[in-house]
Amino acid sequence: MKLQTYISAGKIQEKVAELASVIDNYLGDSEAVMIANLKGSVIFFSDLIRAMKSRNITTDFLSTESYAGTEHTGTVKITRDLSMDIAGKKVVLVEDILDTGLTLSHIMRYIRDIHQPADVKICVLLDKPANRKVELSADFVGFTIKNEFVVGYGLDYYEKLRNLPYIAWVEEE
Ligand code: 5GP
Repeated sequence: MKLQTYISAGKIQEKVAELASVIDNYLGDSEAVMIANLKGSVIFFSDLIRAMKSRNITTDFLSTESYAGTEHTGTVKITRDLSMDIAGKKVVLVEDILDTGLTLSHIMRYIRDIHQPADVKICVLLDKPANRKVELSADFVGFTIKNEFVVGYGLDYYEKLRNLPYIAWVEEE
């Protein structure tokens, strides 16, 4: 297996800083909850919140299951729920990648119905619009990419390679 660099660590950090500033501007002084969907978004999330200037945010996590290997199973299950009350608050849901849209549309529905925040915006590092199966777009997008399977910077290859500091394509040999 060979890894081909797709987005360098430096380019990612530049983009994270840009996104942090856009989200800071959107939130202003309001209290908000930054939510990460585990596990893929954890590295992006931790860089993003550290790059933000707002000191009025709290953080929370949820987790979903939807993938077996590199194929989408089509079903999404919440396997870990939020630990905080977000009712009436502004929320930014942070995800590594928006692909078919099935995961985020399920989470959005769940959060809105069950947790009733004032507003939810979606922030993704990567967007693969070519593979969308439901109508959904993110409010804050880092990079729009081709319909290719990518790894690194949180994104896994059978649970490995999440700790690559850059985003790569996997070339099977
Ligand atoms: P969606 O439900 O939008 O199809 O997919 C969202 C989830 O699928 C992401 O959170 C991620 O875990 C996984 N996923 C989608 N595309 C890729 C990819 O190119 N690489 C990896 N490693 N995971 C992906």
